[in-house]
Amino acid sequence: MPARAHKIGSLLFCPNCGTLLALPQGNEQSVTCEQCHHEEPASSYENIEIITRSQPDAFPSALRQKRKTQTKIHQGKELPKVTEKCPACGHLEAFYEEKQMRSADEGSTILYTCVSCKHGWRINN
Ligand SMILES: [Zn+2]
Ligand SMILES: [Zn+2]
Repeated sequence: MPARAHKIGSLLFCPNCGTLLALPQGNEQSVTCEQCHHEEPASSYENIEIITRSQPDAFPSALRQKRKTQTKIHQGKELPKVTEKCPACGHLEAFYEEKQMRSADEGSTILYTCVSCKHGWRINN
């Protein structure tokens, strides 16, 4: 039986290294600790939903605001533009988007979309 995350209010902390675990995204079945790669099943978070509803003040408002801000960034549709040469048409301006991959081992991927011809390409970090 693997160790399960420590619960403090509605937050989950890694049982191995104590790092605050991120919330599962979309249909993810588990969340991976950024520090030690411990995998926490998403079902742990479902239990917390119930606690949160019955105890709305279980965690400090500062943390609640932080979570809200993070959600906003993920849903933002306006992508920043950067100076990057399009491999298709040579235009020097592209929309920039950073995607965090599921596993921490895979790092993140930069997605570029040409402002001029909408050609898309990616760069792995
Ligand atoms: Zn950990
Ligand atoms: Zn282009």
